Amino acid sequence: MKKTIRDVDPAGKRVLVRVDFNVPVDKAGAITDDSRIRGALPTIRYLLDKGATVILASHFGRPKGGPEEKYRLTEVGRRLQELLGLPVRKLADCVGPAVKEAVDRAGQGEVILLENVRFHPEEEKNDPGFARQLAELADLYVNDAFGAAHRAHASTTGVAQYLPAVAGLLMEREIRALGEILEDPRRPFLAIIGGAKVSDKIGVLESLVEKVDTLVIGGGMANTFFLARGWSVGKSLSEADEVPVAQRIMERARSKGVEALLPVDVVVASSFSAEAERRVVAPDQIPGDWTALDIGPTSAERFGQAISQAATVFWNGPMGVFELEPFAAGTLAIARAVAAANARTVIGGGDSVAAVEKAGVADQITHISTGGGASLEFIEGKALPGVAALQEK
Ligand code: ADP
Ligand code: MG
Repeated sequence: MKKTIRDVDPAGKRVLVRVDFNVPVDKAGAITDDSRIRGALPTIRYLLDKGATVILASHFGRPKGGPEEKYRLTEVGRRLQELLGLPVRKLADCVGPAVKEAVDRAGQGEVILLENVRFHPEEEKNDPGFARQLAELADLYVNDAFGAAHRAHASTTGVAQYLPAVAGLLMEREIRALGEILEDPRRPFLAIIGGAKVSDKIGVLESLVEKVDTLVIGGGMANTFFLARGWSVGKSLSEADEVPVAQRIMERARSKGVEALLPVDVVVASSFSAEAERRVVAPDQIPGDWTALDIGPTSAERFGQAISQAATVFWNGPMGVFELEPFAAGTLAIARAVAAANARTVIGGGDSVAAVEKAGVADQITHISTGGGASLEFIEGKALPGVAALQEK
């Protein structure tokens, strides 16, 4: 168990909090989804209540090794100030004499937002000198950026060499919810894995087939499983190279007595387009120049049945190209089934979370992970460097 902010006394301390404020923005730079900022509020409020000075650090976008106007955290600071209902002082950099001075002058209950840590290439290199400069701003380090915990960067791991390091409340919630899935799932445990490609999810499939009672496979990756059965999939997205992986997963499921469910029907289209002609066919009947873009209604029904029997459900990866309305039905049906299940339900993966929100059922899910890549690496059973760097209880 990792120490959290509840295990330390932050009163009168300067606390450096690594948050994940890497929010999506539109072309004009307006924030289109502020859930990552909202996600950090409980930790910030807790620390302020206890009498700390809060210094926030985050990355934002992919600047190319120096300051870029569009990757400044100015807009994020404004939104945070609104949500928090307290002044937030946004600085022009994250290290250096001016930053040090501003931080030293700040009193209890103040909130400072450092500029994008990725304006310094040392951040992603996990440079010890840069990590030390960040550490010198504070007396205590809190990591609440679960979404960045799979990266060993200066602000996610390096700084923990120089300061006592504990988890924030969001980090704690993520570790607990995902940890339960791996270590102590209520059974029956069902996982739904979809998305574009088998090659993106090999580790996830291999980890889950060892743990679940039922494995449901949909989305583009199901096509590779169809290939493994010797069927042709026309122009559908598929990976011939990954057929051995698909075979291995199915073989492992058989030998472990895991029920593996593949689609029994698919929605095929004459081209990859919302305007294309569509049909529902059996997966061994995909016409040569058509492409499978969603699971069919019978599959959605069967998957939904299985989900309704489960006590734990983990879902990653949409069932089809849900971004295009004519191919969203399968994914939305699964989202509704997961939401309606009388089970602990956990969802990870950026597109899967978007799908659940699109279905309007996000509030009926037990835990929606804020970490796309990080949640998948966690489920694969990999140690996340940002978690490993925190102190044990
Ligand atoms: P997540 O972000 O939740 O981990 P992925 O990134 O693995 O999910 O997969 C999401 C993508 O998979 C979506 O962009 C979706 O359009 C695509 N996808 C799903 N099914 C298909 C399909 N049959 N053919 C092509 N792409 C698909
Ligand atoms: Mg994705």
